[in-house]
Amino acid sequence: MESDQQSSESSDRSELVSEDGKNIKSVICQCCESKVLCPGSAVLAEKELFLPLMKKKSGLNNTDGSVDGDTLTAHWFVDDMFTFENVGFTNNVGRIKYLICADCEIGPIGWHCLDDKKSFYIALERVKHV
Ligand code: ZN
Repeated sequence: MESDQQSSESSDRSELVSEDGKNIKSVICQCCESKVLCPGSAVLAEKELFLPLMKKKSGLNNTDGSVDGDTLTAHWFVDDMFTFENVGFTNNVGRIKYLICADCEIGPIGWHCLDDKKSFYIALERVKHV
């Protein structure tokens, strides 16, 4: 376990997160602006998740050897996949499915584990908010 981490990036979070922890703005794809989540449909969750670097879907399934990516901690949490306006999934990588844009298929923008069918995470850093 890692101990105290400094969170210097949270200064503008209040523009994105309401007082009850929900998303104030729509969540859209960074690339094609396809709508992923409506305002107020997801809850901010702090969880350390590893997401490979963004690329087209075809590249995501090549997971032999090491994978470059980021460990991200701020996510929009949704407990039902029908909450999403649009979202796509990669093929399983072990017990993990990555969430990708339904239209342009760039990703991963989020994370889902087959062990918990009521947990879907969209990384704040991988999407735009409008
Ligand atoms: Zn897109």
